[in-house]
Amino acid sequence: MASRYLEPRIERRSRAEMTRWQAQRLREQVRHATAHSPFYRRKFKAAGVDPAKVRTLDDLGRLPFTTKDELKENQAARPPWGDLLAVPFEEVLRIHMTSATTGRPLAFLDTREDWYGFYHSYARSLYAYGVRRSDMVMAAFSYGPWIGYWSGFYAAQDLGCLVFPAGGLSTDQRIDALLTYPITVLGCTPSYALFLAEHAARKGIDLAKDTKIRITWHTGEPGASIPATRARIETAFGARAYDLPGLTEIAAWGFECDARAGLVHVHEDYCYPEVLDDEGRPVGPGGRGELVFTSLYRKAMPLIRYRTRDVVQVADRKCPCGRTLIAVEGGVLGRLDDMKKVRGIIVYPRRIEELVRVHAGVDEFQVVFRRLEGLDDVLVRIDPSPLLAAAERDGLRQLLDEELRTGLGVRVTVEMAEPGSLPRWDHKARRVKDERTEVPF
Ligand SMILES: [Zn+2]
Repeated sequence: MASRYLEPRIERRSRAEMTRWQAQRLREQVRHATAHSPFYRRKFKAAGVDPAKVRTLDDLGRLPFTTKDELKENQAARPPWGDLLAVPFEEVLRIHMTSATTGRPLAFLDTREDWYGFYHSYARSLYAYGVRRSDMVMAAFSYGPWIGYWSGFYAAQDLGCLVFPAGGLSTDQRIDALLTYPITVLGCTPSYALFLAEHAARKGIDLAKDTKIRITWHTGEPGASIPATRARIETAFGARAYDLPGLTEIAAWGFECDARAGLVHVHEDYCYPEVLDDEGRPVGPGGRGELVFTSLYRKAMPLIRYRTRDVVQVADRKCPCGRTLIAVEGGVLGRLDDMKKVRGIIVYPRRIEELVRVHAGVDEFQVVFRRLEGLDDVLVRIDPSPLLAAAERDGLRQLLDEELRTGLGVRVTVEMAEPGSLPRWDHKARRVKDERTEVPF
């Protein structure tokens, strides 16, 4: 029987061996950053730490954190790359940009080796979903400096798959390709998967029946780890949908496997994860905290203790697939930056999506945090399916009102919009607005 692991020696490595490997990589990386990155030299000095004393994984806690704001400030102060760059400029091969909602995006550079490491660990994820070289793959991300398209494309090619380059194509052209060629695997954001399915349905095309897609994978947003959203995607494509969390600055760091046990494995040989509580202490199995990564591989921009702002829960059970890689429960549970306080209660928009998407009558939705008569209020706008009769729409509104109130523990106003009136998203969605903090312009 063919192996279910691309790299069994890494994916099933014993804990002792993995720790040894990580500690050795960590020492090398800290040495490299200290020797070649003025940014890190300055940082270590300011924190009063001697990087040479970092010998084991436990010593990592001596080093200061790195934040995205710091990197952005560094690039703004020393344009265009900042002085984080730890290799001569002629050694860099790739540039990618993070998606930015405000200000200039962060530019991220990689050497040839760095780039190989990025897409090769990504390939390991695709293999874990069941993608093989006999598959034909479409990476339906936008062609541009966002890493999503390139890493998906190179990863599939690394496995030997035939890859259909769909970066610059319109949705109609992509649907046409899916109907014409034996494309069996599709990668895109979860919002785009739903958009694509709706668009096809409007043209009378049933993607589940009319295409050969058997696996879809989703990145850029956590949708595929939200059971109701995943179920919708799976039904629309008649395929198995997988979540691939990642970030440009570190890696496509995690993957669900074909055991589908609700766990996301971490490529911990490639990027070392810490999960820390709000006082910076590591949480144990079952604990929740912020995911912090140290890049064990990338040399051009070697990030150390990089705060992802993603909240995860460390698994306290083994995955039936037999991998020994550290796993987190259910993927990224929320972003610290997206966390909202409503009358003192913490609300993550992801939770709202979980509650809303279970209803087949909901085509799209939008969330507005606002002030109503001096009090915080959550407005949830629903774009109902055109198939619902007026009475059914009203019933759905009441039901959602109750479920959201109970599920979130705060008062919620549910509003029914006209079918098809809310925006659809062909990349990452922006369904959430906070009118309490945003300055109107
Ligand atoms: Zn597994």
